[in-house]
Amino acid sequence: MKTPRYTPLVQTLPSTIPFVGPETAERTNGRLFDARLGANENVFGPSPKAIKAMQDAAADIWMYADPEDHDLKGALAAHHGIGRENIMIGPGIDGILGNLCRLLIVENTPVVTSRGAYPTFNYHVNGYGGALSAVPYLDDAEDPQALIHRSREVDAALVYMANPDNPMGSWHSADVISDMIANLPERTVFCLDEAYVEFAPEGTAPPLDVSNPQVIRMRTFSKAYGMAGARVGYAIGEAGLIAAFDKVRDHFGMNRVAQIGALAALHDQEYLAETIAKVNGAKARIADIAHANGLKPLPSATNFVTMDCGRDGDFARALVAALGTRGIFVRMPFSPGEDRCIRISAGKPDDLDLLEKILPQALEAIK
Ligand SMILES: *Cc1c(COP(=O)(O)O)cnc(C)c1O
Repeated sequence: MKTPRYTPLVQTLPSTIPFVGPETAERTNGRLFDARLGANENVFGPSPKAIKAMQDAAADIWMYADPEDHDLKGALAAHHGIGRENIMIGPGIDGILGNLCRLLIVENTPVVTSRGAYPTFNYHVNGYGGALSAVPYLDDAEDPQALIHRSREVDAALVYMANPDNPMGSWHSADVISDMIANLPERTVFCLDEAYVEFAPEGTAPPLDVSNPQVIRMRTFSKAYGMAGARVGYAIGEAGLIAAFDKVRDHFGMNRVAQIGALAALHDQEYLAETIAKVNGAKARIADIAHANGLKPLPSATNFVTMDCGRDGDFARALVAALGTRGIFVRMPFSPGEDRCIRISAGKPDDLDLLEKILPQALEAIK
């Protein structure tokens, strides 16, 4: 047998993927979903100006993208009032998380997260052999004090938290986050994942402080900007930490058309505000639909509503499956305790009409 010489680490890795895609479920079910409300994509899509810019750029796809992301980086620097040396652009937060792990983790490097938090982070930590330690959620939110306490206990190289959080939709105020930052162990880097920050109330994101090499903030065009398929994310941090990415990143890994689309999307803040208003309207309607069916919507600072189904994980899993076979794609938290909930992304009015019709049928079917 000519077996490749997989590294010892790879030989120990399970063949799991962080999220099974809805397309996989569609192939299994033998039908397409009627409403795609499970991946927190932004169904309202990108700015028409971004679409136009990408259409105009399509014929130039024979060229590699600018490996320095010069134009997008400059625009983001101006948008945030920071230097271009404080921004790293990559193929979505997911891709940048992989690079961050490569910068900080070798086998058995201690890393801290919350049990049931964003699984793609765990995937990358495991991929570099890090020793992942997870603290429980507290009252359906990530627990800043427990994260800091555990980071100190294990002397973590990296601690991760999303604010606002996925999958619960909960959030902490900027003061709480600033407190966390002030209390980080001396050599721990804090990865603050702000994928949903554009949806969050004022006072959720602490001011950007690019002088602190212990904090890296993750942003994306996938959620509020409606460009998940384009794969554009960015990290904000201290210049030295950002420069370190040049040692590990895929310099030609950005899609040229996506770069151009993201730039146009960033310049259309008016459209962004309209989209956020539509998302807020959809969230209110999802909450109403939940109430009407005896489910309890949790407060959300994201583009989805997580709802307490009032029973255990098996019940919520059955509900997710029953909705799926009836054409509605939703997901749910993985972790015991939080897995009493299901999570529904903001949809268009048609999607929510369907949800309103199908949810009672799905509940009835699993009674
Ligand atoms: C959706 C999501 C991401 C993914 O962002 P990409 O830029 O599309 O890779 C990252 N973090 C959290 C918490 C998310 O929910």
